[in-house]
Amino acid sequence: MEKTSAYGAIWDMDGTLVDTAELHFAAWSAIAKELNLPFSRPDFAATFGKRNPEILRQLYGNRFSEKEIAELGEKKEEYYRAAARRQGVEPLPGVKALIENLRQAGFKQAIGSSAPRANLDLILRLTELASFFEVLVSMEDTQRGKPDPQVFLVAAQRLKISPSHCIVVEDAVAGVQAAKAGGMKCIAVDFGGHHGQAALRSAGADLVVKNLEEVTVDRVRQLFA
Ligand SMILES: [Mg+2]
Repeated sequence: MEKTSAYGAIWDMDGTLVDTAELHFAAWSAIAKELNLPFSRPDFAATFGKRNPEILRQLYGNRFSEKEIAELGEKKEEYYRAAARRQGVEPLPGVKALIENLRQAGFKQAIGSSAPRANLDLILRLTELASFFEVLVSMEDTQRGKPDPQVFLVAAQRLKISPSHCIVVEDAVAGVQAAKAGGMKCIAVDFGGHHGQAALRSAGADLVVKNLEEVTVDRVRQLFA
């Protein structure tokens, strides 16, 4: 790699930077309770990582109008952020060190997430990671969710780095597929165990790890060699 400054790292947030699954589960449970509707662990597993309108339609059919779906989605995210502020959120093992080392090595870094911008701002503030990212791409910046590569392509474009010089860090099959469809390298982390290493590998991940403590800048550089 001749010019390190021309390389980028684009991070997924939920499940990669932080493990917020329980906060999302609690927020959906509270919404369902208010509506007097069921919301089980299997329901959560079956809809994990999807966008709020898809989750509500998948679980509750045509019960809600477009407007109600938008309102319920916003309310759920407010509950989620309130719980995150109350309980605090820590970066997952190895995250902080890898982010620091990539910056030291000249990588420009971005977040590429399907979560709303307010969630990104809050999580980056709570984890004290905000200053490491030059670009934040959130739900509001895209029309198509992962596995469409749009979120990562927008991030690469705003970083002003060619997709072929970007590494994506992801925890979900759809996210790995999005990175590869965008022509990027991809490290998949299986810390949460929601997807499984075999599935992440067959989705096209260039490197699959249990957690990011296993990843060094040299290992990242090798992926571009
Ligand atoms: Mg994720």
